[in-house]
Amino acid sequence: MKITVAGTGYVGLTTGVCLAEIGHHVTCIDIQEEKISLLQAGLSPIYEPRLKPLLIKNLSSGRLDFTTNPQYAYSDAEIIFIAVGTPENDDGTANLDDVFAVARSIALNIENDVLICTKSTVPVGTNDRIKHLVHCEKPPNVHVEVASNPEFLREGSAIFDFFHGDRIVIGASHPQVAAVLEQIYLPLKIPIIKTDIRSAEMIKYVSNAFLATKISFINEIAFICEQVGANVEEVAYGVGQDKRIGHRFLRAGIGYGGSCFPKDTKALVQLSGNVKHKFELLEAVIKVNNRQQTIAVTKVKGAVGHLRGKKVALMGLSFKPNTDDVREAPSLTIIRELLEEGAVITAYDPVALTNAQLVLGDTIEYTTEIRVALTNAEIAIIATEWDEIVQLPLNTYVEYMKEAVIMDGRNCYPLEEVQKYPITYLSIGRPMIT
Ligand code: NAD
Repeated sequence: MKITVAGTGYVGLTTGVCLAEIGHHVTCIDIQEEKISLLQAGLSPIYEPRLKPLLIKNLSSGRLDFTTNPQYAYSDAEIIFIAVGTPENDDGTANLDDVFAVARSIALNIENDVLICTKSTVPVGTNDRIKHLVHCEKPPNVHVEVASNPEFLREGSAIFDFFHGDRIVIGASHPQVAAVLEQIYLPLKIPIIKTDIRSAEMIKYVSNAFLATKISFINEIAFICEQVGANVEEVAYGVGQDKRIGHRFLRAGIGYGGSCFPKDTKALVQLSGNVKHKFELLEAVIKVNNRQQTIAVTKVKGAVGHLRGKKVALMGLSFKPNTDDVREAPSLTIIRELLEEGAVITAYDPVALTNAQLVLGDTIEYTTEIRVALTNAEIAIIATEWDEIVQLPLNTYVEYMKEAVIMDGRNCYPLEEVQKYPITYLSIGRPMIT
């Protein structure tokens, strides 16, 4: 199959590289020339484990190439995946400008029959709009079909997820269209769910909304646990043993972030508003998460009083481990609050410093050395559960910090361990240790 992928971000690049790996000829197109130049040279513009060797391998095999030229990318493609961003507008709706720009560019450049397949997370009805737009502007002799194929990969394990995902969802209006996509994915031996286009579009939003709900639910429970003297980790374990509930996404912490949950929950609230339904449950999920992102600073202030001039080691900037993505990362909310309180911050992260610096500039110091961040710090705030942080021996805090006050926003350390050291330890949904 001659495949084109539009967008070389976390989703598009992973998709393009992995489709080439299973034998297809793939062209990836992006509007960012710097990105394409890096990729042509075998360099990944994003940090994603296992991506780089596959990129180099498929680039050298000739099955994968990169371009900014829409004529080259679209004219003779048999399938085009749209994987461009759908960020939120100010009112919480999904911004579809890039999706429609790609659709228009496809219409203007196609010369052969083509299947346009949307991987970007888009509100219900968007594929119908794409179809309408392309039909209005395409050459009359060319046949175009559309399909929805929402993406479920997780940053940090995107390559693994491509090859071992829980399911592949294909939304199409004819079985023949679904069959084309099914052929592409069959070698992966992942269960394929075939459905109509609108249900496929909905499945993606509902999946993210449900996971976000689990997180906010356990964070509410964490708050109550603190008030009644229970330990949320023990509670979540006991609850999660019930197979109907399960353990995953029942980790209390400083809230969810990233480029998906925050925007997709808001977009679903908006979508439900469009059909005159107030999605109160999801609104509460979002509200709880916003509160949760501010809890770290509130707790630290409760423990140490004011923060003016205090040296803070901010541990972890990416919104979760194994990615350099800082979009909507709780660390950013915490840093902004700390700066308002007058704290002096050194942030540690193994890979996300460049992206964080683009947002925060020189308002804080940055380091890839944990010990540099901790040296003479009076407070350490753990925002991301990187392995390097989870496995850091607790005596390192005692050795390097001026005062070993830790606010563990990801409950990385067992309380019994912490108790062995002269550390003031705050976490989420568990008793404070002094
Ligand atoms: P991203 O921001 O990392 O990448 C988007 C890319 O599209 C950018 O490189 C941008 O330059 C490019 N682009 C913009 N306009 C273009 C155009 N006209 N032609 C070609 N390229 C263009 O986005 P992402 O994180 O990969 O997300 C893409 C979509 O997938 C979003 O809808 C997102 O919600 C969804 N999604 C993301 C994830 C994730 O973990 N990141 C997971 C599942 C689904």
